[in-house]
Amino acid sequence: MSQVIRPDEVIPFLGEDGRDFIDDEALERLLRESRAPEAAQVRDLLQKSLAIESLTPAEAAVLLNVTDEALWEEMYATAAQVKKKVYDNRVVTFAPLYCSDLCVNNCLYCGFRAGNGGIQRRCLTMAEVARETEVLAGRIGHKRLIIVFGEHPRSDAHYIAETMRTIYQVKVPGRRGPAQIRRINVNAAPMAIEDLKLLRDVGLGTFQVFQETYHHDTYARLHPANTVKSDYQWRVTCMHRAMAAGVDDVGIGALFGLYDWRFEVLGLVAHANELERSFGIGPHTISFPRLQDALDTPYVQETRFRVSDADFKKLVCVLRLAVPYTGMIITARERPEVIRECLPMVTQRDASSRIGIGAYQDAYDDQEAERQQFLLGDTRSLDEVIRELAELGYITSFCTAGYRCGRTGNHIMELLRSGKEGRFCKLNAVLTFREWLDDFASPETAAAGERIIRQEIEEIRAHFPERMFRQMIAYYERIGTGERDLCF
Ligand code: SAM
Ligand code: SF4
Repeated sequence: MSQVIRPDEVIPFLGEDGRDFIDDEALERLLRESRAPEAAQVRDLLQKSLAIESLTPAEAAVLLNVTDEALWEEMYATAAQVKKKVYDNRVVTFAPLYCSDLCVNNCLYCGFRAGNGGIQRRCLTMAEVARETEVLAGRIGHKRLIIVFGEHPRSDAHYIAETMRTIYQVKVPGRRGPAQIRRINVNAAPMAIEDLKLLRDVGLGTFQVFQETYHHDTYARLHPANTVKSDYQWRVTCMHRAMAAGVDDVGIGALFGLYDWRFEVLGLVAHANELERSFGIGPHTISFPRLQDALDTPYVQETRFRVSDADFKKLVCVLRLAVPYTGMIITARERPEVIRECLPMVTQRDASSRIGIGAYQDAYDDQEAERQQFLLGDTRSLDEVIRELAELGYITSFCTAGYRCGRTGNHIMELLRSGKEGRFCKLNAVLTFREWLDDFASPETAAAGERIIRQEIEEIRAHFPERMFRQMIAYYERIGTGERDLCF
């Protein structure tokens, strides 16, 4: 613990009394005191979300206390409108790449915890990382990865940086043009500022760390005291350190099922508010993983806080409304029908996900609990997922331009709030989807994709300045001849 945790990089982000910004009692009080809200009060808050203004935890607590199902329906509809206003009908897809399951921690809910003797332990070599990437970029067609690590000296920041360099170097042929991973996000343990700078310098996209639970006592119970992860404050201030390191693209999340879901939503809203207040930049993404079964992990069955599908939809809705500008990630932990219910409110999902270490090159189809952190609910291929999205009216975007053009952090916040980012994104979605259809789509998916792309092009023709439309068509035609990576 003393080798990892740097008190001098925690204390500056705490209050004068040494407490962090999550005040459990205050959040519990908000939940108690906003019982049975008036419909008029709820509708005022919906208007605020529609104006793309963040809600406070007190306001989010009002929404969480709605009991009238008809009012919830209005909330879902507004959440969908908010998403449409900021992100239109785009869904960004990515894949997780698990690089190492070595872990020094003992989180009760996780298959990778050190005490779990049944898990096969592996840390990929760089040659293996390259082979995984070849499958992801060359056979499936992903452009964006989240790379995932247990916490261990062998998978420290230097290993993560080397992994990133290796992935960015892999270039493989697609059917018509060259393919490669263009954006790497990282999900790893909290780090010191100098480590974050190292990752920033090798092309880090989003730095993602989930708080798991914002409830201090529950956190202490689930993360044994002698482990690095037991330090709540080291974890809850990790995005402050990221900002200090110049990593302004951060992803927060909570693992739903560890404590009362309403409390966790308030924790996430409080975290987003804190980042906005301290740095003028909120989280680029919010994740809401839900607890799944894992090998020899009885806690998952024992917890009394498991979240039902109906409540899951509610928590997604309140997060969408409370942090209206943020990207929201639903993962393949969820079953297809749950994902479909939430799609109107979210912006990203993974597909063709394999979460065993080395699982893409091994091409195993069934899940293998002894090499997975948990079991997935949706193992469909990217091709199938994209076809379904297209049939439901969504365009899959492989755009990674925002990050490479410096449209991140507070720049992107302003663009998102004003709706300007959406303009570039709409153009880039068409261009990158064209690439993917040409290089990777099956005939059925290509047919569904062509319909969506034609519709998008007509909308752009009707609503964009002529100069932009023409430029886009010029790029579009060049992509048709095999050129790649043309974007706005
Ligand atoms: N080891 C790093 C850490 O703990 O910060 C990286 C994250 S871990 C490999 C990825 C995430 O998976 C965790 O942050 C946690 O939220 C989630 N997770 C752990 N156990 C899970 C389970 N049984 N079901 C669903 N998600 C789980
Ligand atoms: Fe290790 Fe992360 Fe799993 Fe905890 S959640 S046991 S830190 S891999």
